[in-house]
Order: sequence, then C-alpha cells, then structure tokens
Amino acid sequence: MAELKDCPSCGAFFNYTGIRDVCASCAQSEEKKYEEVYRFLRRRENRAATIERIVEATGATETMLHKWVRKGRLQPALFPNLGYPCDNCGKLTAQGKLCDSCTQELSSELRQFEAAKEFREAVSKSETGTYLADKRK
Ligand SMILES: [Zn+2]
Ligand SMILES: [Zn+2]
Repeated sequence: MAELKDCPSCGAFFNYTGIRDVCASCAQSEEKKYEEVYRFLRRRENRAATIERIVEATGATETMLHKWVRKGRLQPALFPNLGYPCDNCGKLTAQGKLCDSCTQELSSELRQFEAAKEFREAVSKSETGTYLADKRK
C-alpha cells in the first residue's frame, strides 16, 4: 500500500511503496552515484580505497556507501575498506550488525552468562552440595 512520505534526502513528498526510501528523482541520482562509485572502484588502484576517499572522489555520501554495502551492492570481499558502522560502537564492519570486537565481546559475555547459569543449576540440583565438593577435588 502506498503512503505519502517526505523524502529524507530532498524533502519532497512521494509515494512510499516499501521499495525505495527516497523519492524517484533522488533514487535516480543515487543510482547515478552508484554507477560512478562502481566505476571508480573497478579500477585496480582504487580497490582498497577508503570510504573517505570514495566520498571525495565521487561525491557520493557515506550514508549511501553504507547502505550499498549493507544491501550487498558493494562487496567488502572485493573492496576491503568498505563497510558500514557497527550498531554498538560505530566502527566499520562488513557483516552482521556488529563489528568483530563487539561480536567477540558479546559472545564472551554470553559464555560467562551461560557458565553462571550452569553453575546455579548445578548448585540447585545437588541439594547436599556434593556436586561442588566433588568439583573442588
Ligand atoms: Zn528526494
Ligand atoms: Zn562494534
């Protein structure tokens, strides 16, 4: 169902159908930018360009670049310096919602949590506390 929205990029009203989040003319100019960025990146010497460099060279915005990486239109496997900000710390990442270090932190927190849970379960299971005593030996 179409709904009237204002374009976050130029402020014009447009029919939002869930496919595009900007108006038709902005979508079109974004497509042009995408082609430009893609052409820029296809050159061997630009493969490892950082986002700042791409913004400088093509006039695309960081937001656009993040979006394209997220949607898989620009592949970090081919262009190692591309990514989008981690949900947690804002550092660039190329997969998932969180960067590597946040993912690691989260999983170690999770492990600690699991370990604590197992411990509590073990304690409550062994009413006499022999489980703990056995473990300490
Ligand atoms: Zn627009
Ligand atoms: Zn992070």
